[in-house]
Amino acid sequence: MRVLVVEDEPALAAMLRAALEQGGFATDGAATVAAARDFLQAADYDAAILDLGLPDGDGLALLEQLRRAGNSLPVLILTARDAPADRVRGLDGGADDYVVKPFHLAEILSRVRALLRRPNAALGVRLEAGNVVFDTPTRTVSVAGASLALPLRETMLLEMLLRRQGRVVAREALESGMYGFDTPTGPNAMEVAVHRLRRHLQDAGATVRIQTVRGVGYMLTAEP
Ligand code: CA
Repeated sequence: MRVLVVEDEPALAAMLRAALEQGGFATDGAATVAAARDFLQAADYDAAILDLGLPDGDGLALLEQLRRAGNSLPVLILTARDAPADRVRGLDGGADDYVVKPFHLAEILSRVRALLRRPNAALGVRLEAGNVVFDTPTRTVSVAGASLALPLRETMLLEMLLRRQGRVVAREALESGMYGFDTPTGPNAMEVAVHRLRRHLQDAGATVRIQTVRGVGYMLTAEP
């Protein structure tokens, strides 16, 4: 288990990381929004602790950007901002938990462990690519603001591709996310679903593209 600690106060960051490592987590430390972005690109984390006031920007903006890109990394905001409106902004922005400084280290550890028990913690987020928006709570899709009705399998497929947009998603991963063991599927079911999804998106004027990566899987990207 690996946790990214985004905190610009060196003493506090060191204390958090030491406590997490004692608690059995590998950690990385980022003191700026830019460094946090680099770490998130370079490694897969199981959770992040995020300070809001950072030297080069607001942690909340980073969090909102992650959620829009479909990243469901469990995030605990750790901040000095204690107004109710700040908490609301943090949680609505996609945070899974919100703790106000000062805090007890033991409490942070137990909250991080709690986050890791929640599978796919980020609910209530919008996935976006190009002019396509997928609202996960209602599972509705819109293209340039107009709602687009998709059949069940195509909806599942689109959600998985959006959650990992810009990366190749293995065909097996898509199949296992779309079809249960008891679902009868033909040998070309996946190709047919991709073909239909592409056509639905194209007809609706979507500015995304689903590329086939031969022998591997599929990748969704926003058109430049
Ligand atoms: Ca700070």
